[in-house]
Amino acid sequence: MRLARPLENLIDHLAKLPSIGPKTAQRLALYILRLPAEEARQLARAIVEVQQKIKPCSQCGFLTEFDPCVICQDHDRDNQILCIVEESSNVIAIEKSGFRGRYFVLNKPSSLLEGSGLEELDGQALETYLSGGEFKEVIMALNPDIDGEIMARYLAAIIQAKGIKITRLAHGLPVGGDIEFTDEITLRRAIEGRREL
Ligand SMILES: [Zn+2]
Repeated sequence: MRLARPLENLIDHLAKLPSIGPKTAQRLALYILRLPAEEARQLARAIVEVQQKIKPCSQCGFLTEFDPCVICQDHDRDNQILCIVEESSNVIAIEKSGFRGRYFVLNKPSSLLEGSGLEELDGQALETYLSGGEFKEVIMALNPDIDGEIMARYLAAIIQAKGIKITRLAHGLPVGGDIEFTDEITLRRAIEGRREL
């Protein structure tokens, strides 16, 4: 016994989304089914619109409706420091920390998730961006996982060739964290990255 085809169809599409399992997909599909018709239309329109209107900035890669993006058009930033991140959502997070330099967003290729696809990473775009700037330091703010390591090594060669200093985010204990419950890798990195009081 199968569910009605349009319902199965919606469940299949939702189940393809990250961190959505079959059960959650079914629950969401049934929720959408019960939405008022106008709300369901708005949801469908929002999905289409985001694909049509949002593109990576041609200069820095930040997802934007207008090109160049608001960050590239902001003249009140430190032009000597560049922060490289994997996704636009990381820019929002780092902005909250008070950083006011420039950014370069990699828009990490999904193929990298399977451990390859490095050739899809646009090294040329970074090289062009660096050549057009006056950067003295590049901060690698990539995720501390295997993909982040692979990308950092690949990009470091491009940056070093320009004679620009490369730094990376410190690894350490989260504020409010408990040493007892910290995993050993984080703790080892926190010890390695210790600073004088
Ligand atoms: Zn931009």
